Amino acid sequence: MTGVYSLLPGGQPGLLVSPVFGAEPCHGAEDLARYLAAGGYAPLSPLDRLADRIAAVGLRGRGGAGFPTAVKLHAVRDAPGRPVVVANGEEGEPGSVKDRWLLRHRPHLILDGLRLTAAMTSALRGVVYLSDALAEQAVRRALAERPAGLPVDVVRTEHTYVAGEETAVVRRIDGGPALPTAKPPRAFEAGVGGAPTLVSNVETLARIAVIHACPDAAAAVAGAHLVTLSGPAGAAAALVEVPAGTHLKVLADLVGHGRAAAVLLGGLFGGLYGAGWTDLRLDHDRLKAAGGALGCGALHFLHPEECPVAVAAEAAAYLAAQSARQCGVCVSGTGALARTLTAAAHGGAAHDTTDKLRRWSGQLPGRGACGLLDAAARIVATLLAHFPDRIDAHRGAACPACDGERPEDGRRFTVPVP
Ligand code: SF4
Repeated sequence: MTGVYSLLPGGQPGLLVSPVFGAEPCHGAEDLARYLAAGGYAPLSPLDRLADRIAAVGLRGRGGAGFPTAVKLHAVRDAPGRPVVVANGEEGEPGSVKDRWLLRHRPHLILDGLRLTAAMTSALRGVVYLSDALAEQAVRRALAERPAGLPVDVVRTEHTYVAGEETAVVRRIDGGPALPTAKPPRAFEAGVGGAPTLVSNVETLARIAVIHACPDAAAAVAGAHLVTLSGPAGAAAALVEVPAGTHLKVLADLVGHGRAAAVLLGGLFGGLYGAGWTDLRLDHDRLKAAGGALGCGALHFLHPEECPVAVAAEAAAYLAAQSARQCGVCVSGTGALARTLTAAAHGGAAHDTTDKLRRWSGQLPGRGACGLLDAAARIVATLLAHFPDRIDAHRGAACPACDGERPEDGRRFTVPVP
């Protein structure tokens, strides 16, 4: 069963409900009348001090890096040239559905956030960047009925792990392939058409629109996260909105995975966490201090009978297959990690497998043009940190948990969009 709990009225304990994020369940895309009635598309006056409010409440980007939104806004606003603002709705993490859900169901909220962002940076052009066909339909309908204002183009891309990376977004909008490029320059320095460009995740834009419409709720809105929760194939999944700092155990219990043996953090980006995961909280800084990463906020819980080596092998194989094959170190590095883990999961671990994996996972981070290589290395490093004996348990034979049927193409992590 897949459920959307967060945007329902007041029901779930601990869940944030805000008037613009939805006072009642959303079935299908919102329409303009409903959005206007909720306070949407209100004029931005100088007295609004929206940018100051965003800085004061510490809103951070929801695409994965968690970068402070106010810093990005100022960098683009202050760069020479006329900026471009981009609503980035391409979510490459297979275990995350929040961005496509927002685009399909709350297109006006995102377009309003884009309008406000353009006003704060003096941009004259906006782009909605996405790959999902239903999301595109919803956005085009909303564009046709919204109040006149910022010219906005819709740019469709392919759905890949790296297509939503900032430099890939710029490259695709400029007519090239959706592949990352080396940095610098960053998009805020030279982005779409060479102009300073603010590439903003669609959830970030949605939160900007809510903060504008409901200034009294700004701190709560900035602190909340849309989180995709999933578990083993066929198990419950959910999209929930919860305050920062929520215990992961509370989230696991929501979908019946409270007895999970481990959790995969941030989609495939934040690594595996084993014993003690119930003490973790949904918080960028705390998860980083614990050796993981919140990333896009997707959490995948492992059943006690699932083997973390098999799960890590599937994640590494998925990332290796998704490598854009531009950086030699990424092609060889993700390939070696995936092959070695897959061999181990099939009972082919050698006496030096753990040492090799440890060495590679320490040497590879930071050497690719995007975060894919880092994600693969982090999965391996955290597997070894949290399950130090499990690779050796696969010498000569697969462990009992690996012996069953196991998909190896990433399907394990894929969540359907509700
Ligand atoms: S690190 Fe890998 S996925 Fe990223 S740009 Fe380089 S080759 Fe492509």
